[in-house]
Amino acid sequence: MSDTSPLHALLGGTFDPIHFGHLRPVEALASQVGLQQVTLLPNNVPPHRPQPEASPAQRVEMVKLAVTGQPLFNLDQRELQRQTPSYTIETLEDLREERGEQQPLAFIIGQDSLLSLHKWHRWQALLDVCHLLVCKRPGYSAQMETAALQRWLDTHLAADISSLHRQPAGLIWLADTPQVEVSATEIRRRLHLGLSCEDLLPAAVIAYINQHGLYRG
Ligand code: ATP
Repeated sequence: MSDTSPLHALLGGTFDPIHFGHLRPVEALASQVGLQQVTLLPNNVPPHRPQPEASPAQRVEMVKLAVTGQPLFNLDQRELQRQTPSYTIETLEDLREERGEQQPLAFIIGQDSLLSLHKWHRWQALLDVCHLLVCKRPGYSAQMETAALQRWLDTHLAADISSLHRQPAGLIWLADTPQVEVSATEIRRRLHLGLSCEDLLPAAVIAYINQHGLYRG
């Protein structure tokens, strides 16, 4: 283990709405890898992409309700507070600067995000500032889309968990997390049809959605 600060991980997402597919794998990952704090980082969606149905304030509120009373999680609203959407790499570079060179930092993604990582802005620079912790996601293959991505993955795979704590950045960990079959798209689809989503997201988030008439019609 590092004798500097403990490994700190972040999970970025649209969270429109937050659901058990975000929370359950990350809770398992935290106990497997030894994370004491996971920061949820709601994204601003660029204007040329389909906009979330819930407003930034509503997405934040749902994140807060989902993690109330769970000390593992906290919230960072910096991406929503900017006027322009930010690239993940830029947010992580800011965090690296704030936390200093030695703090081990990790960004958590689902397997679907790993498969399309080569489309992210300056994707290869991500490992200069953090580790990547990858959670399983049902329906997404372990096979990378491009040879370049596969090579990059093979080159940076962490040999063991302790190296994630010893090194500040640069490694990829493919975690053995539970497969949770849920997406925000499916939740929105079900809610638009008036179907129940009881087992898919926390009760407090469902209550908020109902109270504010989100994802209706
Ligand atoms: P949408 O359906 O609106 O695209 P989503 O359910 O994929 O949303 P996001 O907020 O886009 O959720 O995801 C944020 C992060 O959480 C991504 O890295 C994604 O891979 C991961 N994630 C989302 N759902 C799951 C899941 N069921 N299992 C594992 N990882 C997930």
